[in-house]
Amino acid sequence: MVSKKKCSCGRKVVFFRKYEGSYLCRQCFLKSIEKKFKRTIRKYGMLKSGDKIAVALSGGKDSSTVLYLMNKIVKPRRDIDLIAIMIDEGTGDYRKKHLELAKKFCKKLGVEYHIFSFKDEFGKGMKQKVKEIDKGKVKVKEPCTYCGVGRRYILNKRARELGVTKLCMGHNLDDEVQAVILNDVRGELYRASRMGPVTDWSLRKKKGKLFIPRIKPLREVPEKESAIFSILVDFDLCWDKCPYAGGIRFDAKDFINNLEKKYPGIKFTILETFDRLLPHIRDFSDKREGKIHSCKKCGEPGSKEVCKTCELWR
Ligand SMILES: [Zn+2]
Ligand SMILES: [Zn+2]
Repeated sequence: MVSKKKCSCGRKVVFFRKYEGSYLCRQCFLKSIEKKFKRTIRKYGMLKSGDKIAVALSGGKDSSTVLYLMNKIVKPRRDIDLIAIMIDEGTGDYRKKHLELAKKFCKKLGVEYHIFSFKDEFGKGMKQKVKEIDKGKVKVKEPCTYCGVGRRYILNKRARELGVTKLCMGHNLDDEVQAVILNDVRGELYRASRMGPVTDWSLRKKKGKLFIPRIKPLREVPEKESAIFSILVDFDLCWDKCPYAGGIRFDAKDFINNLEKKYPGIKFTILETFDRLLPHIRDFSDKREGKIHSCKKCGEPGSKEVCKTCELWR
């Protein structure tokens, strides 16, 4: 049955926001996302005069939404620079399509962009890595681990070389809540200590200057709403999924979505609770395992003498 409800402004409804009980028209929906985005930035002091922000752009809905909204905020300001960094992980056609669209998007917005590839950095891409996994040549079996570790490494290193002051990530509410639950069930307190709206290690750690702080202005926007936003604004997107995606994250996703269906708003509660605990988690892991090393092989920062990237990729 089609809802006869109207948006509070009188226009036709395009979205029902269950956790708020609000019916929204196109304009009011778009406005609400933009408002939330700005509020998150203000709340955590994510932007400062003199910043050079790099959006980690994948060409998917979340990072495109972030680049679009960030550009809207930063463009009228002369005291903040905005660029985009893209990573070619070498997953084949899937990635090529995304990158082409991402390039076009940057050109349309007038945002400077840089592309770095796994192949240039590590001598091989994900396709070859997956072959090694299939042949049983390596210890770690999850493709997403290699991909995530490699991507974080290149983003941090290249952003630093480009003089970037903050890396802006596309994580939405669902991504964050999944990570909270996964770190919980795996007992990864150290990893959890590096989460949060702003990960500002550079201020907290010796040798932390090697880490570029990360900001996540989309982290209070549910995945579904980020998707609807990108459809309503009409971004030219590729919706193909990564061919190697899988694993426990997807179980966590199902679990959380089932909870949300029964108890609307619970994703926000999980994230808020985590944020309240975060200072304590950081204290705890600072004492236990918080030492930062410069990697013996590559000089990049890491939690062991040889960094995770060199362990997995070199
Ligand atoms: Zn409206
Ligand atoms: Zn290393």
